[in-house]
Amino acid sequence: MANLKLSHIYKVYENGHKAVNDFSIDIADREFIVFVGPSGCGKSTTLRMIAGLETITAGDLFIGDTLVNDMEPKDRDIAMVFQSYALYPHMTVYENMAFGLRNRKMPEEEIKERVLKAAKILDIEEYLDRKPKAMSGGQRQRVALGRALVRNPKVFLLDEPLSNLDAKLRATMRTEITALHKSLKTTFIYVTHDQVEAMTMGTRIVVMKLGYVQQIDTPMNLYNEPYNKFVAGFIGTPQMNFFDVTLNRDGDRVYVTFSNGDTVTVPYEHVSKIHSSYLNGDKVVTFGIRPEHISLQKEGEGLKFIVTNVERLGNETIVYGKLGDHLGEFTMKDEGNNIIVKVIDRDDIEVGDVVYATPNPNKVHFFDAETEVTLMNKIPPFNTVEATVDGDRMLLLNKAVALPEAFCKALNGAEHFELNIPPHAIVEGNDFTLKVAHIEKVDNQQLAYLRNGDSYLFALVKDDVREGDSYSFSLLNEKINLNVNGEEVLKAVEDEVSLTGTFSKTEVKENGDRVLHFFYNIEDYTVEAAPEFGYKINSIDGDNCYKYTYRYAVNRDAIRLADNSEPGLSGKVMEYLDYGNIRFAKVDSAGQEYLIKVDPLFKADQVRVAFDSHEVSVYSTRIDMKLC
Ligand code: ADP
Repeated sequence: MANLKLSHIYKVYENGHKAVNDFSIDIADREFIVFVGPSGCGKSTTLRMIAGLETITAGDLFIGDTLVNDMEPKDRDIAMVFQSYALYPHMTVYENMAFGLRNRKMPEEEIKERVLKAAKILDIEEYLDRKPKAMSGGQRQRVALGRALVRNPKVFLLDEPLSNLDAKLRATMRTEITALHKSLKTTFIYVTHDQVEAMTMGTRIVVMKLGYVQQIDTPMNLYNEPYNKFVAGFIGTPQMNFFDVTLNRDGDRVYVTFSNGDTVTVPYEHVSKIHSSYLNGDKVVTFGIRPEHISLQKEGEGLKFIVTNVERLGNETIVYGKLGDHLGEFTMKDEGNNIIVKVIDRDDIEVGDVVYATPNPNKVHFFDAETEVTLMNKIPPFNTVEATVDGDRMLLLNKAVALPEAFCKALNGAEHFELNIPPHAIVEGNDFTLKVAHIEKVDNQQLAYLRNGDSYLFALVKDDVREGDSYSFSLLNEKINLNVNGEEVLKAVEDEVSLTGTFSKTEVKENGDRVLHFFYNIEDYTVEAAPEFGYKINSIDGDNCYKYTYRYAVNRDAIRLADNSEPGLSGKVMEYLDYGNIRFAKVDSAGQEYLIKVDPLFKADQVRVAFDSHEVSVYSTRIDMKLC
C-alpha cells in the first residue's frame, strides 16, 4: 500500500526530445489512476519513470514518503505488467510466476504459497504446469498479472496490458482488473490510449497530449466539465460536436448563432460563468455539445439539418447529418458542418429527412476558439467591473472608494476604465457589500456568486458564508489589472519575482572533508543555495551548469530590502507604486526590472535587495523546465 507524489516531473531524452513536461499529481493510497492520451503523448515514459526504467530529468518522485528518483527499480516495491506479457517461453506458468521470487532468494515454501494464492485469485490454477505458448492471450495476460501479484508490491504499474486482446476479452479483463484492484487494496497506475478503458477503470484519469497533462479528474468530471476542447473531444463516443458560433446575451437568454445564421438559445443562468466579453457577439467561440445531449424534432425550432446516415444499434440510434448553408439549403456533399446525434428508442428518422436539433441547455460547452480552453471554468479566472474616476476616488460596484495612486498613474487622465478582478483578489473587508445569490463547492473551496446588477461577481469565500447573506468585502488592488478602452494599462503584480543569473560552486575543506557550496549569482549579489538544490541543478545540467544562465523565481513575500550587514542586489528605484493597502518600489538592476514591497513612507534612489534562497524556484533558460 502506498501513496505517490510526482512533483514537476520532466523527461528530456538524450536526443533533446521533451517527452514529459511538468507532470505533477498526488496519488492517494488505493487509487486506480489511468494515464490516457493518443500515442506518443508521454504516458509510457511517465510510467517507466515511476518504475525506475527511465531516468527522471527533473522533478521529484516520492513513493510513500521516500524520494525514489535515484532508487533502483527492484528497490521501489512496485511491479509492472507490460503489453507484451514478457513471459519466458521455456518456463511453465508456475516457473514464470516464481522466477522473480527465486531471484530474491525467497524460500521455496513461501514462493509456492504466493504462486498458488495468486493463481487462485486469477483463476489459472489448472494451467500452472503449462508453457505460455499453450495458452490463449487472455490466459497469458493473467500469468503476467500473476507474476506481478506474487511480489505483493505497494504499487502496480500496467502498460497497455489489454491491447493485444480481442474486444470481447478486453471487456472481460477490464472487469477482472478492476475487481483485482478492489480486492488487493493497492495503488494501480494504468496506461492506455483507449478512453473507454480509462473511463470504466479509473478512479481518476490523467488526460495527456504531446507531453503535457491536460486535465486530472474523475471520469464523470472529465465528461461533464472538460477543461479544454481536446479533453472534450477525447472523452465520449461518438465524439462531442463542435461548431463555430457567436454568443449574444439579451437579458436572461443567450443566443447561440451558428455560421449559417441558425440560432438556438440557452438560459443565461446556465452560462453565467462565461466572461461578458464573449457575450456581445464580437468573438467567434467554439460551441460543444455531445451527441447524447441533443433532442430531435421533425418540426418546430432549433438547429436545422439534413440526415445523411442513420445507424440503428437497437435501443439507440446514431443520426449523422449536415447543417444547411446560410441560405438554408442542404447538400449531402457539403464538407464540414457535420452533426451527430444519439437518440434512444426512435425509429422514425430516415436519411434525407430535414430535422431540428435542440441542445440540452444544461449540457452545453463553450471554448475559446484560439486557446481551446473552456469558457466555463469551475472558478472563473477574473471578473470584469466598470469604474469611473471621481476626483481622488473611484466609483465601482455602486460605491466610491479611494483611487489608489498606482491606478491613478496608470490611467493617465482616463476617466472610465475596467478592472479585471480575479476571485482571489476579493477578500473579507468593509468597502463593498453584495448579496450572495448562490454558493457552489469547487474542489475544497466555496465559490460565491455575488449579485452585481444583472450578472455576478465570483469570489472565493469561507465555509460559513451562506446563500442569501450580505457579503462585505474589499479588493486586493495589486492583484487587479486595469484596461482603458480594451487596452491594458496596468498589470496585476505577479506572485513571484523573476531574476536571471548564473550558478557557481566553491569547494572548501571542513574538518578535513572537501565540501561543496553552491551559489546563485545575480549581478553583484551572491546567495548560497540549499545544498540539495545545488546538487540537483548539477545533476540535471552536468558541469555545464556553471556556464548556463538560470531564471530564479523568488516568492514575492520573500524578497525584501537587505540589511546593512548583509549582501544585496543593488538597484536603482525607477518609481513607487502605491496600491493603498500595499506599496512597491520598481527596481532596476542592470536591465532587470522587478517590484519589491516597501513601507508606506520609504524613499530612496538606490536600494539593495535580498532574499532567502529557500524561497527560490530555479528554471532552465535553455528549455522551459523547472529544475527545483
Ligand atoms: P505514449 O506511451 O503516450 O505512446 P511514449 O511515452 O512512449 O508515448 O513516448 C513519448 C514521446 O517520446 C514520443 O514522441 C516518443 O517518440 C518519444 N520517445 C520515447 N522513447 C524515446 C527515446 N528513448 N528516445 C527519444 N524519444 C523517445
